[in-house]
Amino acid sequence: MAKISINLATGSLQKEEIIVGIDLGTTNSLVAFINPEKNPQVINDAGKGILVPSVVYFNQQSDAIVGNEAKEFLTTDPANTIFSVKRLLGRSYKDVAEHKEIFSYKIIDDDTDSLVKIQAGNRFYTPIELSAEILKELKARAEHALKTPVNRAVITVPAYFNDSQRQATRDAGKLAGLDVMRIVNEPTAASLAYGIGLDPTQQKTIAVYDLGGGTFDVSILQIQNGIFEVLATNGNTYLGGDDFDRAILNYWIEKNSLSFTMVAEDNILMQTLRLKAESAKKALSTQNLFNEQVGEIWCTIDKQTFEQLISEKVQETITACKNALVDAGLTVKDIDEVILVGGSTRTPFVKQAVENFFGKMPQDNINPDEVVALGAAIQADVLAGNRSDILLLDVTPLSLGIETMGGLMDVIIARNSKVPTKAGRQYTTSLDGQINMKISVYQGERDLVKENRKLAEFDLKGIPAMPAGLPKVDINFLLNADGILTVQAIELRSGVKQEIEITPSYGLSDDTVEKMLIDSITHAKSDVEQRMLIEARSEGEQLLYTAERFIEKHAEHLTEVEISETKVHIEGLKTALAAQEKDTILKKADDLNEFTRPFAERVMDAAISTAMKGKKID
Ligand code: AMP
Repeated sequence: MAKISINLATGSLQKEEIIVGIDLGTTNSLVAFINPEKNPQVINDAGKGILVPSVVYFNQQSDAIVGNEAKEFLTTDPANTIFSVKRLLGRSYKDVAEHKEIFSYKIIDDDTDSLVKIQAGNRFYTPIELSAEILKELKARAEHALKTPVNRAVITVPAYFNDSQRQATRDAGKLAGLDVMRIVNEPTAASLAYGIGLDPTQQKTIAVYDLGGGTFDVSILQIQNGIFEVLATNGNTYLGGDDFDRAILNYWIEKNSLSFTMVAEDNILMQTLRLKAESAKKALSTQNLFNEQVGEIWCTIDKQTFEQLISEKVQETITACKNALVDAGLTVKDIDEVILVGGSTRTPFVKQAVENFFGKMPQDNINPDEVVALGAAIQADVLAGNRSDILLLDVTPLSLGIETMGGLMDVIIARNSKVPTKAGRQYTTSLDGQINMKISVYQGERDLVKENRKLAEFDLKGIPAMPAGLPKVDINFLLNADGILTVQAIELRSGVKQEIEITPSYGLSDDTVEKMLIDSITHAKSDVEQRMLIEARSEGEQLLYTAERFIEKHAEHLTEVEISETKVHIEGLKTALAAQEKDTILKKADDLNEFTRPFAERVMDAAISTAMKGKKID
């Protein structure tokens, strides 16, 4: 078993172990570490390449294949080839429905606020499980290249990721067998790679411009006393180098007098042209003309034409930079440094536009695909206690959270968060007319609260009786610099409020903390699996509750056959719940949902027509 020692004051760990930095990207992922010469270095395992395409393919035996090999199946078996999973991480179907046409695989539409699931073959996967597959591949490559077990990592996320997306990334790491030391913002990592912010006396305001294959974001950061504060972010999660490729492709189609529909029908031709367009784009980063042929089709484009084609998209990114500055309450003059991240910033026209806007040369001498992972490796090295030049703030040694459905731990303040800190999340009731809510506060890293340390418990009383799901209960944790935790619960519709104060470190020795950490690592995989089963069960039980009440209440709108078939689906779900099988529960819940969805619409229509009756419509 790995020996872990943790310094309670700094959160630093023993020095010998390598902690890697991981950039878990939408299109590509990679891993970096600090080499014996004390320099950050990306890992290229046995010449397999540095970038691991963030693509997971499931073959007929449901084995996961990750990376370049998986990418090959994008055209031949798109239904089982999952890409862009980062867009789904920590999101509900409602969040992603607007863009669902870009996904060639099945995303389950359960019309709820719960997290999305993806179907491949006859199995269901959460984005957490899929991201874990990518992380496992990165871990394996790092272990192979470094010839040592890799159990700890720092993982980067976009600055605009919310709590739920960050927690999902953490869980993915856990499921992959990694102890996620910290989740770091991508622009923070990029700054560290350029050495900005390493000196605690330094004060700087920087802009990080990140244009990748499919997403664009700009972040304005203020660095002071070793703290990186995100002042503003802006961007477009559906804008990137892929748009540039498409612009070239459309241009060739037009120049060769072809029709887009005809080309689109020929999948192989379409993919070949798309890849050719990408090579043209890359070539135009260093030369003025690209001139090749695909069969009879002339693939010619010069730099000037390319720049005209992409000018509108590039302008959009500049508008986003303007907006970010406005949100931060700053002007371009306040920006000390501009950093370029993402493969698409290699296009000279993009670089020039950024330089023109900010009025200074952007920093671009680190490979823009690698800069985030390299910075993550530096952050990892700091956490490992290997760098005394960097100020390490006081951090909380164990996570703090509350108990949610099924006895799960919902972390509100994650381990290693710097103090003072505050965080909160919104909850609701699960039963109609529920007027009390029990709030139990726990400390620890395990997914089930019963394995963690209970700190306190209190009731939020007097929530006005409302249907399940309507009350909005904000739970806020405030951990002050002295380590005192204040937990506040407030029901927003009625203003009912309750507050307590706890000292989480009371009675905690170094040994206890160490044991709790070791336990969490030993049980990480089974913990996450249990969590997923509990989540599936809670979702299934909630659906049963709703469906049973629905057919009772609205029987007059349903035929007898419909009622009896719904009951069959209900029984199916009950059996699956009793068998405690995650995939079957999700499948049966999906079936019941699909079957009853038209009924809900029918009842709604009936309600509207009743309401309209007798009313005059002008
Ligand atoms: P990323 O998501 O950061 O890996 O960026 C990938 C995007 O960068 C893709 O759209 C690539 O086509 C693009 N890219 C990579 N190399 C170049 C290059 N030399 N010039 C222009 N774009 C590039």
